Amino acid sequence: MSQDPEVSEVYAAKDLTSGGKVFSKMSPPARLAVLGDPVAHSASPLMHNAALQAGGRKLQYVRIHVTPEELPESLKQLSSADFIGASLTIPHKQAALSFMDHVSREADLMGAINTVAVRDGKLHGYNTDGPGLSSAIHESFDIPLKELRVLILGGAGGAGRAITVQCAIEGCPRITIANRNRKKGDALAREIEASIRQQVTSITLSQAELSASITSADLIINATPLGMKEGDPSPLPEGLLTKNHLVYDTVYSGGETALLKQARMAGARCAGGFSMLLHQGALQNSLWFGEAAPLETMRKALADLRR
Ligand code: NAP
Repeated sequence: MSQDPEVSEVYAAKDLTSGGKVFSKMSPPARLAVLGDPVAHSASPLMHNAALQAGGRKLQYVRIHVTPEELPESLKQLSSADFIGASLTIPHKQAALSFMDHVSREADLMGAINTVAVRDGKLHGYNTDGPGLSSAIHESFDIPLKELRVLILGGAGGAGRAITVQCAIEGCPRITIANRNRKKGDALAREIEASIRQQVTSITLSQAELSASITSADLIINATPLGMKEGDPSPLPEGLLTKNHLVYDTVYSGGETALLKQARMAGARCAGGFSMLLHQGALQNSLWFGEAAPLETMRKALADLRR
């Protein structure tokens, strides 16, 4: 089955909410999608269609542009349009939570879902960002996340929160979140302490607080969007990294971000966000189909995108 040219298109929410005929008529029919606003940039169809082809599944994964106002009805219509599930991206991850029939405990703690699975007409919500990050860290540095003292820059944002909760669930020996907005960071730290009984230290991104905390961190993760745009500064002031640090940037822009450059200059081991994208996607595939995803096929599809 060759790559259908239609997968590069963006469909509208009304294509779903008007019964989904347009998706049934496609060859092969679309039964999975990423819902977002914007969504045209999403690399998910490439990775997921490669997985569908490798698994011999006669269906495809498309992009659907869904605004916040269109989200409730779009989710409701997934089942009647015969969809197996969906991925959710900006800005729907938090809002979608309340439209699920069932939410996994992890997604509930993370306060967001990035994956919907339709089973017997019911919507099941999951979050694969946290577990995807965990797999990416293990793969990149050959050390399990649970053994690392972690400092999360932007730890109270959407991805940051999923990562912070994942660190707490796994029992990382030390968790520090550095968030621009201190109140958000403090609130998340209190929430995690109450729900998971794990201590979380909340600081800001100020030079003084970061330099005091970074010496007791093994792994520094960027979960801010800094690095997505060319010329973006690093979220970390100069001179704080050493060769003993591990640095993971969730940004997957393709080029070297300012943070990754700092890490390289300091002699620290570092990796960019493509592996998190890959592993969170592989977990989505196994939630939809109940078996291990073709990880290497998906990796190759993403690698082709980066070339
Ligand atoms: P978000 O919910 O908007 O959160 C953004 C976070 O970054 C917040 O903590 C925010 O702080 C902080 N922030 C924003 N601009 C900042 C600035 N100029 N200086 C310092 N802090 C700033 O965004 P998100 O959806 O979590 O996405 C964050 C990043 O994660 C993006 O780069 C995205 O590509 C990446 N991501 C990667 C993957 C992957 O698979 N690799 C998956 C998901 C997300 P305040 O709370 O103070 O506003």
